[in-house]
Amino acid sequence: MNLIDRIVQVRTEIQAIRRDIHAHPELAYQEHRTSDRVAQLLAAWGIEVHRGLAGTGVVGVLRNGSGSRSIGLRADMDALPIAEANRFEHASKHANTMHACGHDGHTAMLLAAAKYLAALRPFDGTVNFIFQPAEEGGAGAQKMIDDGLFERFPCDAVFAMHNWPNLAVGQFATTPGPMMASGNRFEITVTGRGAHAALPHLGVDPVFVAVQIVQGLQAIVTRNKKPIDAAVLSVTIIKAGDAVNVVPDTAFIAGGVRTFDARVTDLVEEKMRRIARLTAEAHGASAQVKFERYYPATVNDPAQAAFAAAVAAEVVGEDNVFGRYEPTMGSEDFAFMLQARPGAYVFIGNGDGAHRLSGHGEGPCLLHNPSFDFNDELIPIGATFWVRLVERFLAQR
Ligand SMILES: [Zn+2]
Ligand SMILES: [Zn+2]
Repeated sequence: MNLIDRIVQVRTEIQAIRRDIHAHPELAYQEHRTSDRVAQLLAAWGIEVHRGLAGTGVVGVLRNGSGSRSIGLRADMDALPIAEANRFEHASKHANTMHACGHDGHTAMLLAAAKYLAALRPFDGTVNFIFQPAEEGGAGAQKMIDDGLFERFPCDAVFAMHNWPNLAVGQFATTPGPMMASGNRFEITVTGRGAHAALPHLGVDPVFVAVQIVQGLQAIVTRNKKPIDAAVLSVTIIKAGDAVNVVPDTAFIAGGVRTFDARVTDLVEEKMRRIARLTAEAHGASAQVKFERYYPATVNDPAQAAFAAAVAAEVVGEDNVFGRYEPTMGSEDFAFMLQARPGAYVFIGNGDGAHRLSGHGEGPCLLHNPSFDFNDELIPIGATFWVRLVERFLAQR
């Protein structure tokens, strides 16, 4: 690996910051301590600090030379409402709050790069270090954009990195086009007419209708969309009734839909509304559908994905970079930044969990798992990648 010595030398210092953030996790839009810490460090290193975007967001601006090119690097800062199972010293001190997605590590890797770039300034142009709140479902990226992120801090391109369990340490992955799916959720309320369960003919049974609708929805994925287009439709909640001898008035259905293409989401929504309405009507009931698109698909700009892969290859060697990695059906709010600016999202291997010595906890070291921990070995790898990305990007004419 071609790591930058000076970054390798500060690993212990940055690791201590990472573990401190891990021990003090904060949920979406409540990242006050984390935000303070990030702002203080950036300022101490001579970086111009801007606060208040999306509440707890922080932007560090570093200019050098007279170059007009600019680049945005984004890290997320929020934790999850999970009770940590790990028992190591830096385990969460906050009940039911945990850095189970490694955003503590993303923040640390970007800080390490910022420290190096501020000290040596090996570039000509502007670097915007974007520390965002509320990636986990709160659309913090969109909120920062609404608060003028790209008008106040212009970026020719924007990049983000996420640790990826089971991709080996020292490996990177990205892909041209869709990398993560859109996240959408739906609720269907079926209204019938309650009755005594012994006299169903006097009512309209919403439970029976709800079951027909759930069956019908599966036809959207298997019969309506093009087989080659990806989509997942999961009904995860069905609720109705309180007593075995009562036909209830209403039944409730809810779930999620993931796609890589807004046109596929359009098709799923349209068919869902039709199936719910007409199935209910056939049985004398009615159905109300609420369909909410919370995150769009994360779509990499092909040229920027190829550029990021080439930079990663410079750091870890070509054999350790997957430039056409299989997309995943998870979603990510960096999608909003990629709708606003060209750029790419990159996975950095977090390993198989061997970095947690025995006694650290039980269970797999997977994202959103109570036994997860970010692998500190990634700090110099990720930070070197960020530095080289800045140097190469700003040197382009
Ligand atoms: Zn997550
Ligand atoms: Zn995450």
